[in-house]
Amino acid sequence: MAIQRIIDTSLHDEDADEEIIEVTLRPKTFVELIGQDRLKKNLKLAIDAAKKRGDPMDHVLLYGPPGLGKTTTANVIANEMGTNIRVTSGPAIERAGDLASILTNLSDGDILFIDEIHRLGRTVEEVLYSAMEDFKLDIMIGKGPAARSVRLDLPKFTVIGATTRTGSLSAPLRDRFGLMHRLEFYTSDEIAQIITRASKILESKIDPEAAKMLSTRARLTPRIANRLLKRVRDYADVNGDGIIDVKTTTSALALLEIDELGLDPGDRNLLINIIDNYGGSPVGLNTIAALTGDEATTIEDFYEPYLMQIGFIERTPRGRRVTAKGHKHVGRTSDEKQQKLI
Ligand code: ADP
Repeated sequence: MAIQRIIDTSLHDEDADEEIIEVTLRPKTFVELIGQDRLKKNLKLAIDAAKKRGDPMDHVLLYGPPGLGKTTTANVIANEMGTNIRVTSGPAIERAGDLASILTNLSDGDILFIDEIHRLGRTVEEVLYSAMEDFKLDIMIGKGPAARSVRLDLPKFTVIGATTRTGSLSAPLRDRFGLMHRLEFYTSDEIAQIITRASKILESKIDPEAAKMLSTRARLTPRIANRLLKRVRDYADVNGDGIIDVKTTTSALALLEIDELGLDPGDRNLLINIIDNYGGSPVGLNTIAALTGDEATTIEDFYEPYLMQIGFIERTPRGRRVTAKGHKHVGRTSDEKQQKLI
């Protein structure tokens, strides 16, 4: 469904074109990387210190909702360090042997980027954190009584892990990261800058007013901003002279059913479902998933962070509930008294 793809901040296998554009738009240096000032400052310091000492950089864990720039940041670090980056993901490393072959093929100073690091299996995770600790790899050779353990030296590499949920990482793995940083949602001004930059790279003309309008609909997320820009550009190419102005942007967004806060029918449906079934009472994540027909992880990773960021949903010890502001947005009245009691 077209709408799902705008909001869904993951990439899909069939999105080969999307992937090519995504790579083209991806910033390569800190200068090109818009926003995230605190993160940039800390990383620059760590990079300069590592360079000065001639050591590889400390292991870095980047966390936060999808589409905010974790992969981009890892690539920028590699570029600024002048090292190679090897990209993999938690689910792709199925066995300890897979990890061993990746690690033994690295060179000194290389960066190993592990996306969705929270999805590593337990045995793989154990091999990884001992390798991160002392750059040694213990492997078993042979089977049965003849089996023996061999300790291999590994190159001095840096792991950059990315995750949407730090809570799912085991404590020993988390402890191996010298730097842990949360990527924050962007301001709409920063998103407008990202849209303007992307439109230059894509060679499409966009009015500043239209860029501003798009920036408020992109859920404060660069990947969604770029994706919306591409959809609006298609619309302007087909229905106009290719110039993205406020009129074409308004029509394209209406077609995509994206409202003035960037919510799509899926978000509105989620809010309405909770309100109509539970009013202002807290409700568990699995119940929400059953109500909307989505996976609980989809709600947690894609829908909820932005809805919480704009104050439409809040977490209580007994579950999630829709705030008075959230009620108002979907045209429902909230029972303020009940909300205060909870
Ligand atoms: P994540 O790994 O957190 O899911 P990505 O790093 O893949 O997110 O970012 C998605 C896209 O958003 C990138 O391809 C890039 O074009 C854009 N992007 C992310 N962060 C920034 C930024 N700070 N400045 C400009 N563009 C960005």
